[in-house]
Amino acid sequence: MKVAVPVPLARAFDYDCVGAPELGARVKIPFGNRQLVGVCLGVAQQPDPQVKRKAVQQVIDPESVFTPALWRLLHWASDYYQHPLGEVLHHALPVLLRQGEAANYQTTQGFRVTAQGARCELNELRRAPQQQRLLAALRKGVLLRRDISAQEFSAAALKALQDKELIEAFTYQPVGDGEWAFAIGAEPLQLNPEQALAVAAIGAARKPQTYLLEGVTGSGKTEVYLQAMADVLRRGKQVLVMVPEIGLTPQTLRRFQQRFQVPIVMLHSALTDRERLDAWLDAKHGNAAIVIGTRSAVFTPFAKLGMIIVDEEHDSSLKQQDGFRYHARDLAVVRGQQEQVPVILGTATPALETLNNALQQRYVHLQLTQRAGQAKPARQTVLDIKNMPLKAGLSVTLIDRMRAELERGQQVLVFLNRRGYAPSLLCHECGWLAQCRRCDAYYTVHQRQHMLQCHHCGDQQRLPLQCHDCGSTQLVGRGVGTEQLEQTLAELFPDYPVLRIDRDSTRRKGSLQKHLSDATDNKFPILVGTQMIAKGHHFPHVTLVALLDIDGALYSADFRAAERLGQLITQVAGRAGRASQQGTVVLQTHHPEHDLLQDLVHNGYSAFARSLLQERKLTQLPPFGQLALFRAEAHDAQQALQALQTIAAQIPQHPDLVVLGPMPAVMERRAGRYRYQLLLQCQQRGLRQQVLQHVLPKLEALTELRKVRWSLDVDPQDF
Ligand code: ADP
Ligand code: ZN
Ligand code: ZN
Repeated sequence: MKVAVPVPLARAFDYDCVGAPELGARVKIPFGNRQLVGVCLGVAQQPDPQVKRKAVQQVIDPESVFTPALWRLLHWASDYYQHPLGEVLHHALPVLLRQGEAANYQTTQGFRVTAQGARCELNELRRAPQQQRLLAALRKGVLLRRDISAQEFSAAALKALQDKELIEAFTYQPVGDGEWAFAIGAEPLQLNPEQALAVAAIGAARKPQTYLLEGVTGSGKTEVYLQAMADVLRRGKQVLVMVPEIGLTPQTLRRFQQRFQVPIVMLHSALTDRERLDAWLDAKHGNAAIVIGTRSAVFTPFAKLGMIIVDEEHDSSLKQQDGFRYHARDLAVVRGQQEQVPVILGTATPALETLNNALQQRYVHLQLTQRAGQAKPARQTVLDIKNMPLKAGLSVTLIDRMRAELERGQQVLVFLNRRGYAPSLLCHECGWLAQCRRCDAYYTVHQRQHMLQCHHCGDQQRLPLQCHDCGSTQLVGRGVGTEQLEQTLAELFPDYPVLRIDRDSTRRKGSLQKHLSDATDNKFPILVGTQMIAKGHHFPHVTLVALLDIDGALYSADFRAAERLGQLITQVAGRAGRASQQGTVVLQTHHPEHDLLQDLVHNGYSAFARSLLQERKLTQLPPFGQLALFRAEAHDAQQALQALQTIAAQIPQHPDLVVLGPMPAVMERRAGRYRYQLLLQCQQRGLRQQVLQHVLPKLEALTELRKVRWSLDVDPQDF
């Protein structure tokens, strides 16, 4: 039998097995000196009688743990991302299934009467009233272990009745029947004409399609999802809704729950392994009507999938950045095609790849250009801060505007994408900067904890009292982070409480939700936040949004920097004036004349993105060029470099293929390892795939690669 094993080797392994497990069933196998959980891939072709094969230790599943559709998707993904099938299959399963647990709902112990217990005289137990009461209860029906304790029956009585063989324990196995009734809760909103057109287009399609729903922030995309879904649910089909990591809030869930009285499950990182498996089973057996989850939810099996929605499809959290590197949005589109169900990609700021697919008419392009309800679009202004005095990054002009807004009883939001007190610690006497021991990066000052922290490797140090070079005590934070900004704002506006929302202020469980709801309810007139607050949240009282430091991205070497900046500015700006008050967005910059900024502010993201697409076309970068990136890292820089040279030597020459590198990564040393990369760029996806298929199998045999950590990233996002 062929078995896919979760190891970084592309081939399957042969095992002897009595009986023939179904394709996709899990098996326990010996592998080296370990025991692993693998997946059956079918009968081995012409087993070599000379080779002694090991035997499967246990067949775990009577049938495949994957649905046929998911099985196909995972094979496709393994092929496209050139990632070993064994690891892909493993990755797609909930943790408990990876560990070999049964693919069943949690069983619990139940108790029931035996034939003897049903016949005997209750009166015979009059000397043991506890036993008598329990037996009487069990004669009326089975009780689960938790009922026994909830109804305060004694454990001793339970044991005594078992010993007398009047009752017996059994294993209770809950199963759903895969049926649920469809019912509308809250009434749907009256759609505006653009929304109505979008819902109609999705409903009327004769064959399943991918849709780009490009709607400005606050245009009511969620209402379009809800109404498009209603039809699918009414037909008894299931819907998969994918959201960015941070966007998965109780508010989102509430909107779905209020509209549809159907079973909804959430898949997110806060679930226990058991809860995750139960949610997975609910989807697989059709017991859940709606599954809302983050990127890995794309691997959920469904009994009867009817629609996929990817909200904030441009969001970078949809890309898995290590191990099996995949893009959940792209896999959602493939899955939609394979399963013949519509896929809706919604966003105010489409990724250039998606926009291009829409412009090329591979996707149906639906647009919502107006804000829903009363809200008007925010006014955007570029504020030139050259030569202006700054307080913690705030210009006097901005401070005045904030004051005016606050005095009118409005809320203001200040966006700064840097947490901590200051991004580095500087010696005022000699210029020394505190640098991370393990990375090519400076430590961030965290004043409140008196710590230096590296945001790249997590290394922490106590805040030094003296310069490591000259011994001076004149150490100052250089630059501004959110912690400092919060402090300065509290000093500037003592009458207006400040709320900071970033990774540091939301570490405790539940605190993010608390902060977000406090922000929504205007409990804090001043909000300070990082990109955590850029996504999807609705703050109805915010009328002024200020972005403090955007200049870095204007001159970045990353070819996606402009796209990201445009998305970020547009998303943050979208937090302003979402109710009846018009909002204003202030962009502080030293480069007010910069083309990108001008284009974005005057023409909006949609036009901005189209001009970026023109540039990408000229430079043959995605979506017009196809990229693949090999990375290698090692404690010894030379080893990492050599590994990539070895890989480069395996790549065939082709006039349409450009190989760049090996070259150091942007941050060459991180967490003590030296990092190098090798970029493949070509025009056709087909050629890229051919090249990778040719190269990858050869790499497994190369001993040079065993000394380093290396990986392949197809369609890399960050490098
Ligand atoms: P988006 O996701 O596009 O940013 P939302 O779906 O969150 O926007 O909608 C923004 C606000 O507009 C919400 O408060 C929503 O209830 C409201 N809304 C959406 N559609 C309509 C409509 N047709 N009529 C009135 N209000 C609407
Ligand atoms: Zn010094
Ligand atoms: Zn570090």
